[in-house]
Amino acid sequence: MKNIENYIDGLLQPASDKKHITVYNPAKGLPYALAPDSNEKDINLAIDAAEQAFASWSTTTVEERHHYLMKISDLILKNIDSLALAESIDNGKTLWLAKSVDIPRAASNMRFFATAIMQFASESHNMTGKAINYTLRKPLGVVACISPWNLPLYLFTWKIAPALAAGNTVVAKPSEVTPMTAYLFSKICMEAGLPKGVLNIVHGYGAQTGAVLSSHKKIKAISFTGSTKIGAEIAMKAAPSFKKYSLEMGGKNPNIIFADCNYDKMLATTLKSSFANQGQICLCGSKIFIEQSIYDKFKTDFIRKVAALKVGDPLDKDTQVGAIVSKQHFDKIKYYINLAQEEGGKILAGGISVQPKGFEKGWYIKPTIIEGLPHNCRTNQEEIFGPVVSLMPFKNEAEVLQMVNDSPYGLSASLWTENLTRAHRMANDIEAGIIWVNTWLLRDLRTPFGGMKNSGVGREGGNEALRFFTEPKNICIAH
Ligand code: NAD
Repeated sequence: MKNIENYIDGLLQPASDKKHITVYNPAKGLPYALAPDSNEKDINLAIDAAEQAFASWSTTTVEERHHYLMKISDLILKNIDSLALAESIDNGKTLWLAKSVDIPRAASNMRFFATAIMQFASESHNMTGKAINYTLRKPLGVVACISPWNLPLYLFTWKIAPALAAGNTVVAKPSEVTPMTAYLFSKICMEAGLPKGVLNIVHGYGAQTGAVLSSHKKIKAISFTGSTKIGAEIAMKAAPSFKKYSLEMGGKNPNIIFADCNYDKMLATTLKSSFANQGQICLCGSKIFIEQSIYDKFKTDFIRKVAALKVGDPLDKDTQVGAIVSKQHFDKIKYYINLAQEEGGKILAGGISVQPKGFEKGWYIKPTIIEGLPHNCRTNQEEIFGPVVSLMPFKNEAEVLQMVNDSPYGLSASLWTENLTRAHRMANDIEAGIIWVNTWLLRDLRTPFGGMKNSGVGREGGNEALRFFTEPKNICIAH
């Protein structure tokens, strides 16, 4: 069994009462590591260390912070092979995906905010003949970063990087389901010489460690990515002490396909937007709306492509669909596949779990296509977060817009059309924080990232993140 430790005050250490959480390799369905099951005492140690470190870290120059973040970025790239392997074993995602997306993006997150802080500026407002106002943007203090299991190091660093760049000190909690790369990241921070206490990583269950962290009086802000249910709990815990919070939560994203689209590009991209990372990306398009006139053609072509996807060993370079992250999540997906059938849906592909040879105990689900359900049934309204999509035909723009916006979620949408005017009109009217036209998951880290409705509060990315992690202060100087 591998052993994972907390990173507190610059040191690796076990949970104070030596309890641990068993971590599973989902490809094999077997335990392979132990992570600290931390408690309030560990959180307090981490917050104290971060508080101690704040005085000096918050007064470092931007060049110094740039230097540390760049060094960490370089070390992530230097260790890309071992980090990608660790991410694949911990999460069940394919090794090639971890190596081509997750780990490079973690390095980009550090590098992006290392340079962004060098360019970050605040405003001044001149009152002619009377005064000049300028805005100071000060770091907040000790902040919390809480991340989920689907893109473990990618999302963990997406929060930590802007928090540190802006001069805050951090207590971060990765998901207890996938703690391994956060632990390896602790070692990288130590190798980079990050001063002790600036970043502290505490492992533990959400209901215990996460809950203590998000209600702690000394925490000034919480950056959270995870489910809508837990986001709501965090908002309630944060409110009495008036913490800032940024909540990136669940999604149930539409993929809207008009007959005038670039068909081949749409089909290839739709395969990815449906099943990349086993459908466990908050931005996956799980509701596919197809214009009536091409519905049958799309259905036939899509079923053929999906049936050819190889499900199996995440370490095999030919595998396209790896393992589901945990038994609990596997059961949740199976529940929704049953629900879809109870609601009258027809399974066109998949719908079953599979046991690849040599991986009989692992958690695998065949990419699943459902049709025949109305847009407002539970299957089409609730987040499944697995390799499951639902096909729905539509007659015209007005009808699809009504169905798309009749949703509790509003994270992202993809739109496929060669009609420019329609693309602008639909993009304006769809209730979602991110709209992709003729593409999917194309990300520029400078853009605002986040969702509307039950998908989120606040925005991450670029200056939005640096503004979130700083307190604006107006100074007015009379002439
Ligand atoms: P989750 O909400 O169960 O857990 C997320 C994190 O919160 C984990 O670290 C967990 O330990 C912690 N946590 C759990 N209970 C807590 C509590 N009471 N107080 C404080 N922290 C607590 O989510 P998950 O199952 O890990 O991740 C899947 C969810 O994340 C999906 O809903 C997905 O859509 C969402 N997600 C959203 C985005 C986005 O950018 N909007 C990105 C990725 C994932």
